[in-house]
Amino acid sequence: MDITELFKELGLDSSALSSGTLQVRSPVDGASIAVLSEHTRNETIQIIGQAHEAFLAWRRVPAPRRGELVRLLGEELRTHKQALGRLVSIEAGKITAEGEGEVQEMIDICDFAVGLSRQLYGLTIASERPGHRMMETWHPLGVVGVISAFNFPVAVWSWNTALALVCGDAVVWKPSEKTPLTALACQALLRRAMERFGDAPQGLLGVLIGGREVGEALVDDARVALVSATGSTRMGREVGPRVAQRFGRCLLELGGNNAIIVTPSADLDMAARGILFGAVGTAGQRCTSTRRLIVHHSVADRLVEKLKKAYASARVGSPLEAGTLVGPLIDRAAFEAMQLALEQARAHGGAVFGGERQLQDAYPDAFYVSPALVEMPEQTEVVCQETFAPILYVMRYESFDDALTMQNGVPQGLSSAVFTTDLREAERFTSPEGSDCGIANVNIGTSGAEIGGAFGGEKETGGGRESGSDAWKAYMRRATNTINYSRELPLAQGIKFGD
Ligand code: NAD
Repeated sequence: MDITELFKELGLDSSALSSGTLQVRSPVDGASIAVLSEHTRNETIQIIGQAHEAFLAWRRVPAPRRGELVRLLGEELRTHKQALGRLVSIEAGKITAEGEGEVQEMIDICDFAVGLSRQLYGLTIASERPGHRMMETWHPLGVVGVISAFNFPVAVWSWNTALALVCGDAVVWKPSEKTPLTALACQALLRRAMERFGDAPQGLLGVLIGGREVGEALVDDARVALVSATGSTRMGREVGPRVAQRFGRCLLELGGNNAIIVTPSADLDMAARGILFGAVGTAGQRCTSTRRLIVHHSVADRLVEKLKKAYASARVGSPLEAGTLVGPLIDRAAFEAMQLALEQARAHGGAVFGGERQLQDAYPDAFYVSPALVEMPEQTEVVCQETFAPILYVMRYESFDDALTMQNGVPQGLSSAVFTTDLREAERFTSPEGSDCGIANVNIGTSGAEIGGAFGGEKETGGGRESGSDAWKAYMRRATNTINYSRELPLAQGIKFGD
């Protein structure tokens, strides 16, 4: 399918994609695929205002009916899964299976949210006063501002939006300036769902095109009750205090530096498969990518050998071609950051395998690399940073205690895993003295989470939780109600006042 047909299927008006100042380039070949107008500060304020108006109407719609809109969105996504997946591949450089996988994740969260729309439960609480009842109710919160990163250009929006819509909120979305087309396509699909739904207020989803300044205007607007921001720790450090300054709510999903521990009892073939997917999938550009391997010295040589073989045969190439496992980096800056990290690793005694630029002749304006495996003498400074590229640092350990200390010894706390068949090690890893991450897996890699669980991490990852479990509570406000059905007015704590 050529790109004009793709835009048409996804409801994108080609004429609106050729004027403005924001160049959209495909990381597949570096070519320009669109030029968009960026929103001004005034337009941003207007879009937030429209979303706020929409919220005031939407909060009165019963939650199960709000769920119907999300069900229709899920239907649109099912119908256009291939097309949207392909646009993700073109705009973010994901291989076809991962582009479509991202859309499947959107469909899954819509299904989850539809069920949730009948389960926004509060509690009934025993009152200490006779003739009184206490309860907790959950109400719609307001406008939810979503800021998203380039590497999950559509799924992160859907995690937030499917829940926000059933919770009775409106959404204003500031996608990454590197991936605005997929955002416009999602907006068009939601509009189609809204037309079929009938009476949804128009401003329910605003999309803001632009970079950091547009994001800042969203962050600073007091009408935005919750800012859900996904991106680098640098971004979170700026956004968090600004939102706190105006006592808004923040949900931060920031960088990760995810490790896999491989113990002597591990199934090494299984571990190697899990490590390969986690470290080289999406060209190492997932927040949950495996960046550190902490392996027991007795199995390290065998495992590293297996990995080197797998790395050498992992096909690097266009994400649009069948058989490719490793697509491009997003841009030149990502490539340069990777090379700088490899230089630093070498300077600290690291032995680097792979990491070179690939396919430069075929794609001079795109940045393909062979994934790098780096054997480090210890967990040095560069290992403790998140470099958003396919670099796997390998460190050896002697005791499981040391492995846990190393796993937890970085500033980030998103995802982690242990490969072991020793029950004690597995249980310790998931216990209070084990991994300090928001995600701690056993015999599964660090990436590829399911939507049913709460997703997010600790420390510099920001502490937010999205997606499944009770993450919906962040998108609502809680009221505690005490109802007196007696003829007396007793005070709590037995206080007598004025009699
Ligand atoms: P980034 O921080 O450069 O940009 C993310 C978004 O924030 C973009 O939309 C950008 O325009 C916006 N932004 C940047 N500075 C801002 C500011 N001061 N105020 C308001 N908005 C601002 O990140 P990126 O390069 O697009 O994505 C990669 C990073 O995202 C990695 O660190 C990765 O780990 C992280 N990430 C985390 C998760 C998670 O769930 N924890 C998921 C995906 C990506």
